[in-house]
Amino acid sequence: MKVIRKETVLEIQKTVDVLVVGGGPAGVGAAVSAARNGAKVLLLEKRGFLGGNITACYVENCNYFLKGTPFHSEGIYAEIERRCLEEYGSDNIRQRNPNAFCSEYLKVFLDRFVQEAGVEVYFHAFVNETITTGDHIDAVVIQTKKGPMAVATEVVIDTTGDADVAFSAGVPFEQGREKDGLCQPGSVNVRFAGADVEALLKTPDRLGEIGADFKRRYRAGETGLPCKRQDLPFGRLTPGGQISYANYSCAYGLDPTDVRDLTRGEMECRGYIMDLYHYLKEHYEELRGLEIASIAPEIGFRDSRRIAGLYHLTIEDMEENRQFDDVIAVFPRFYDMLAPDAEMDGDGKVEGKGYRGHIFEPVKDGRSFQVPYRSLLPVQISNLLAAGRCISADHVAESGTRAISLCCMTGEAAGAAAAMAVRERKSPKDIDVRALQEQLKRQNIELPV
Ligand SMILES: Cc1cc2nc3c(=O)[nH]c(=O)nc-3n(C[C@H](O)[C@H](O)[C@H](O)COP(=O)(O)OP(=O)(O)OC[C@H]3O[C@@H](n4cnc5c(N)ncnc54)[C@H](O)[C@@H]3O)c2cc1C
Repeated sequence: MKVIRKETVLEIQKTVDVLVVGGGPAGVGAAVSAARNGAKVLLLEKRGFLGGNITACYVENCNYFLKGTPFHSEGIYAEIERRCLEEYGSDNIRQRNPNAFCSEYLKVFLDRFVQEAGVEVYFHAFVNETITTGDHIDAVVIQTKKGPMAVATEVVIDTTGDADVAFSAGVPFEQGREKDGLCQPGSVNVRFAGADVEALLKTPDRLGEIGADFKRRYRAGETGLPCKRQDLPFGRLTPGGQISYANYSCAYGLDPTDVRDLTRGEMECRGYIMDLYHYLKEHYEELRGLEIASIAPEIGFRDSRRIAGLYHLTIEDMEENRQFDDVIAVFPRFYDMLAPDAEMDGDGKVEGKGYRGHIFEPVKDGRSFQVPYRSLLPVQISNLLAAGRCISADHVAESGTRAISLCCMTGEAAGAAAAMAVRERKSPKDIDVRALQEQLKRQNIELPV
């Protein structure tokens, strides 16, 4: 059976220079950067707050992998990190990552941060439709409670994580790993209260020890828990006994863009959270009094659609530290890929496109890689940029480019490029990349050119 969808004529309700869709780290970087470069910017976010996975999935330990390396945060991300901690302080008494955010304060901070830059924001603004003429997006349609709302724009930046805008405009994409299309698992994180702080502080990092002990028991087949996740990373510990997140539940084999899979993932992960909660209370003295403070509002994904771009960044580029004339970000080389098929064996090393198991390679020996501007430019559409985890890259490369602070940096580059394109009445594909690089350096992004 089929139904007929009626054609509708939509009034343009708003016209902007730059429209940013998705208010995660990439979207905030893009919107603030475009506005500071003089563009009239509207930022659309489907949820009721900014921050993407940081705030919706409690991923607060964003830059833990930089500790002890010569690298530091740059540009807008460094500013967010510094100002948020200055204004709200840190209630973290766990030494492991002194720069971890409290994502609840971050929500409040980001509201103000984007407005200070002159960015207008619409929350509860879901986008899955674009109106195109030839290779040009004329308008983006927001699905609102009152029905569809059209916004006209010169340039669009897709920071949805899932490349929803690019997808709706017909840009080709890839998803998951090359051999079978499987993505990394989806996770719902949980916040606990009621931990015995005094007991936990008797050893330097008792939460880390508990995580390691859990992993050992899981590998020995002793936990009896059905979730196939063996690692148990914890977030901040507060003086009030809160553990800011347990990054544990994993649902495998999900397509992050399929409603049925999303529903299964949410339900499966909440079940795993309850298993973990009871297990921790039962097995660790310091956690006997645990309570569930909150369960993340939505399942989080580490990867999803990746656009086909003018340059496809590969694992080989990263391993060789290939130098690009159009470099817009340099980042420490770090890979973290949860096994898409839940196979926990494998040697944990980057093995190219036929990899097995969980890949985890920390930053070592000051190694870095470059991101070229062309990997933010999709094929086929002339006034669209992408930033964040949906840029053009292969699957293993994405396990490095997905890092939150790098997502903010690719967003920052896309925002500055979009503002430049609007000012010069050009496609983002035709701007002077050298001028973009100079602008990014003025924004405290360190580039070797
Ligand atoms: C459990 C988990 C743990 C992680 N741990 C780490 C870590 O320790 N360190 C690290 O650096 N990275 C980590 N990551 C990865 C990191 O969170 C992401 O790669 C990063 O947040 C991507 O940023 P982004 O802005 O591209 O996308 P997201 O953070 O996903 O933000 C996308 C935003 O767009 C909005 N949106 C999506 N679709 C639409 C639409 N159609 N219309 C309007 N709005 C839309 C979403 O609501 C969201 O706010 C983790 C991820 C997960 C899930």
